[in-house]
Amino acid sequence: MSQYDTRSIQQDDSAHYMHPFTDHKSLSARGARVMVKGEGVYIWDSEGQRLFDGMSGLWCVNAGYGRKEIADAAYAQMLQLPFYNSFFQTTNPPAVALAKKLVELAPPQFSHVFFTSSGSEGNDTIIRMVRRYWDVLGQPQKSVIISRHNAYHGSTMAGASLGGMSGMHAQGGLPIPDIVHIEQPHYFEHGRGMTEEQFGLHAASWLEAKILEVGVERVAAFIGEPVQGAGGVIIPPASYWPEIQRICEKYGILLISDEVICGFGRLGTWFGCEKMGAKPDLMTFAKGVTSGYIPLGGVLVSQKVAQVLIEQGGEFNHGFTYSGHPAACAAALANLKILQDEDLVRRVAEDTGPYLAQEFAKLGDHPLVGLANSCGLVAGLNLVKKKAPVLHDCELFDPALEVGMVCRGHMFGNGMIMRAVGDRMIIAPPLCVTRAQIDEMLGLIRDCLDKTHADLQSRGWV
Ligand SMILES: *Cc1c(COP(=O)(O)O)cnc(C)c1O
Repeated sequence: MSQYDTRSIQQDDSAHYMHPFTDHKSLSARGARVMVKGEGVYIWDSEGQRLFDGMSGLWCVNAGYGRKEIADAAYAQMLQLPFYNSFFQTTNPPAVALAKKLVELAPPQFSHVFFTSSGSEGNDTIIRMVRRYWDVLGQPQKSVIISRHNAYHGSTMAGASLGGMSGMHAQGGLPIPDIVHIEQPHYFEHGRGMTEEQFGLHAASWLEAKILEVGVERVAAFIGEPVQGAGGVIIPPASYWPEIQRICEKYGILLISDEVICGFGRLGTWFGCEKMGAKPDLMTFAKGVTSGYIPLGGVLVSQKVAQVLIEQGGEFNHGFTYSGHPAACAAALANLKILQDEDLVRRVAEDTGPYLAQEFAKLGDHPLVGLANSCGLVAGLNLVKKKAPVLHDCELFDPALEVGMVCRGHMFGNGMIMRAVGDRMIIAPPLCVTRAQIDEMLGLIRDCLDKTHADLQSRGWV
């Protein structure tokens, strides 16, 4: 017998709890799955079923569940000083220590940190910083930020505007002014007839075209995720980011790397831009900085930007009650210590990342899988109706069938958390995952792909 009354939790849930990104009518009909416990790479629901958490919660539980050191650090700090603000010429030791630590871990051009409580707030902060930067330099008309379709930069007004999710823009009058989008570097979708290398340069050229269209005197910055996460683990060709970097330098616009997913080892480097060969002026972080144990986010600021804001800018009229929250910063320090003590970033680069790449690619032989690729510890596979020797000739499913959701259902029902973005199935397991657990995870995925295939055959969809 479970200690939880699942039915009653579900009833209260649908009566009172409005979930993020959720269609409540259909959720109420089914009842939410109630998650109650986590340990390592596994979570348990209220009925006692164990699931392999292939998504690290929501791309954040990088150190894995059940890390007592993180809990202890937050607990000790809460007893010592649970909160104090950093507004009125005050500070606190964990915030200072974390800022110093983050600057040490970041690429050499970074010197300062601004704290928020989430990635969305980090990106809001970045918009204000970037516009303030150009204003202080006497070029207030440089306010346009170029982003990409299908990017995800959060859910506040500014975060959702920077993001390129059409569903989000369709609600609430977004994007806000002076944010424009170019196409994403998605080889499967846009790369027909080109090598990946050629396509990477081609996709980067869309940035140059947009800068010229808007007028360089109006453009403030470009923002991108090193690997797009929520958009479906879109891994750009190796030629893409160095070319983006070159274009930003050529036109003197700021480069922003949204590291909310890729930061803290996800791609096998401390920050994703290092893996991709870019040298940003600003970086957003959140999720993995605390492994999700407590909300914390922020902005890493380069010397170049900090210099202008600090030396010439006077007061920057921006901040949050919880900027530099002592308990959140203490949790982050404990989390980063785990990543370092267990050498998890190097392990992703040299051991688990390459092993996942090798084993995940084997799923490409499955009759439903058109493409299976990975980068560090993010991976994705595309479900296709009919495979073809040339990737771009694969026959796709009718999107209205929501085949990805069918597949996700089989995964979830059989103990594997794998997310569906359209017909692309994605994973981002905790960085503490072992080779044996990768084998276990891929066994589950293959088994669930077989179940999905049989299901689709019985529906007459393949
Ligand atoms: C999750 C995410 C955000 C938003 O972070 P929140 O903490 O949910 O506000 C921003 N950017 C990227 C790349 C993300 O994945």
